[in-house]
Amino acid sequence: MEANLPLLDTTGVGDLVLLDPLSEESLLQNLKERFGHQEIYTYIGNVVISVNPYQPLPIYSPQTVEEYRNCNFFAVKPHIYAIADDAYHSLRDRDKDQCILITGESGAGKTEASKQVMSYVAAVCGKGEEVNQVKEQLLQSNPVLEAFGNAKTIRNDNSSRFGKYMDVEFDFKGEPLGGVISNYLLEKSRVVRHVKGERNFHIFYQLLAGGSDQLLRALKLERDCRRYGYLGQEDRSLPGVDDAANFRAIQEAMKVIGFSPAEVRALLEVTAVVLKLGNVQLDSQFQASGMESSSIQDTRAVREICELIRLPEHVLEQALCSRTVEAKQEKVVTALSVAQGCYGRDALAKNIYNRLFNWLVTRINESIKVDSSERRKVMGVLDIYGFEIFQKNSFEQFVINYCNEKLQQAFILLTLKEEQEEYVREGIQWTPVDFFDNSIICSLIEDSKVGILAMLDEECLRPGLVTEETFLAKLSQVFASHKHYESRATQNARHVTDASLAGPCFRVHHYAGKVTYNVSGFVEKNNDLLFRDLSQAMWKAQHELLRSLFPEGDPQKTSLRRPPTAGSQFKASVATLMKNLYSKNPNYIRCIKPNDNKEPGVFTDGLVQMQVRYLGLLENVRVRRAGYAYRQGYEPCLERYKMLCKQTWPKWKGGARDGVQALLTDLRVPPGELAYGHTKIFIRTPRTLFDLEDRRRL
Ligand code: ATP
Ligand code: MG
Repeated sequence: MEANLPLLDTTGVGDLVLLDPLSEESLLQNLKERFGHQEIYTYIGNVVISVNPYQPLPIYSPQTVEEYRNCNFFAVKPHIYAIADDAYHSLRDRDKDQCILITGESGAGKTEASKQVMSYVAAVCGKGEEVNQVKEQLLQSNPVLEAFGNAKTIRNDNSSRFGKYMDVEFDFKGEPLGGVISNYLLEKSRVVRHVKGERNFHIFYQLLAGGSDQLLRALKLERDCRRYGYLGQEDRSLPGVDDAANFRAIQEAMKVIGFSPAEVRALLEVTAVVLKLGNVQLDSQFQASGMESSSIQDTRAVREICELIRLPEHVLEQALCSRTVEAKQEKVVTALSVAQGCYGRDALAKNIYNRLFNWLVTRINESIKVDSSERRKVMGVLDIYGFEIFQKNSFEQFVINYCNEKLQQAFILLTLKEEQEEYVREGIQWTPVDFFDNSIICSLIEDSKVGILAMLDEECLRPGLVTEETFLAKLSQVFASHKHYESRATQNARHVTDASLAGPCFRVHHYAGKVTYNVSGFVEKNNDLLFRDLSQAMWKAQHELLRSLFPEGDPQKTSLRRPPTAGSQFKASVATLMKNLYSKNPNYIRCIKPNDNKEPGVFTDGLVQMQVRYLGLLENVRVRRAGYAYRQGYEPCLERYKMLCKQTWPKWKGGARDGVQALLTDLRVPPGELAYGHTKIFIRTPRTLFDLEDRRRL
């Protein structure tokens, strides 16, 4: 894709490939200047950078849709609609599957961007009753998944706590047929714990605020959220958010998608069970032997849960308070301490909720899946967490950053591939581009033998005492001389000291910066084990949906094989995602959060600078213009500059290519600055283009 001429007429430059000189500072300055004029979109070729305006802008109206519909990409201002339009047309008319990758940190505007893309495509892709029904189903999956997968966090009142990839499938006419959604890594710990000032997942508040009296009675719920341990004690309503209205909206949405009333009911029953688990309190008792054991303090919550899921009370009670260990064909039941019991209870709540969420995605997919076997065209939209560097980084940040590392790798390779293909198409010689290849970091993490994830798995599966210390020691031994790995031990060996790397930590030098991970919790989070007694108890419930979530609880099917670890599951889903992305033509939307206070009009330099680094934008521009920064079809080029040369003014009689050649030769543009492709002229540096522009203005 080429940079357009009107891009020069906007505030700053509308395409960063035209930035001259190019530096992190000029790049930032350009974004800032545009943001100051409410120009939130800027391109790098066909990549859109979007800076969250934190205020409604009048740029998403049906008129704007019309303006961008079928427009020439270069005739209009940078906009997310232009990318959506370009992707849709390449898909429909050139039969190229597309994917739109949206990245950025929490609160940067990814989910809003994904909705804008979807609603744009929905607006332009065919009409008619049947088509509209498909569109509705696809669009309505959003509020349902948001209710169960989003929560208020400090950073974002509607933060997606899962990654989402959605393939929308079209027929040969470009009309939507349906889709498939994949979800990644729900932050399930939020079910049982959230920090002050945040909330649990929206659905709990929505259900309590918006459920009818009759529904709440049937679910044995009370309306006041303060009654529920997992929801915290403070007032949990959010300014500007109507939980009750949202609940009605998702009920309606589920109807549109095709959930039966019984399914909705079952879904809400399981949701209520999770909420009630948080109210199960355990008491400690001391047995004659002096061993601590636990018992249920107040049986009401357990009783209500068991009524909802149709399970004898003592089964759940026993599973919460004791644990069966099988040793040498013998079953030994041991009592759990209060701490162990609470741990098991929370693990159960997290597991139920996580599996329920997966079920929800599968159920939506059943409704939107395409039955026909005709060849389809596909547009994928990825809305996934960006690179994370917190004060304390744990297993979650590690896998999230791994995913971003893979996305960056895909980004560079796909961008280079696309450039290269264009050069081949145009018959121009390709000169290799020097770029930072992050595959060394990817393999540090994912190598199946000596990768951090594999070594963590090995540690988790090792019989005997598994500790995080031994894991860390092993890492530091194996990666003693790895350029992208650091720990206290490797530092000692390398005779460097750095006070910031204290404690049980290792540090990875990611493409976006150095991140220090604390290994506490790595083993447990990777193991992700649920006491077997609990899954067996769930399987015994007569509640069909809940029971179906715990197939491993079936004693007939109990296998001695351990379920795959969280890390290996994530790695496998990232691999599937990458395979999918590599088979498509990529389009990128890079979202930036301009300030930490959700404030309109405020652009905090330092904060944006960090994101520009995490997103690798400078590298992006460098790769984009590695060969030729600018390219333009011969005809528009001749049209724009023919006035600069006597031979071509007012009218050139020959072909456009010859005209451009005559023109540029006459203007004495150094030949090294130019390459003549089959249909386009390529210009090496922005300066040359600006010279032409200056001469036009004289
Ligand atoms: P997370 O990773 O936490 O899910 P996100 O990148 O998905 O974050 P969004 O939820 O899309 O962030 O955006 C956060 C908020 O910013 C939105 O609720 C909205 O208020 C505002 N916002 C984002 N994009 C726009 C936009 N284009 N116009 C106006 N407001 C926006
Ligand atoms: Mg989001």
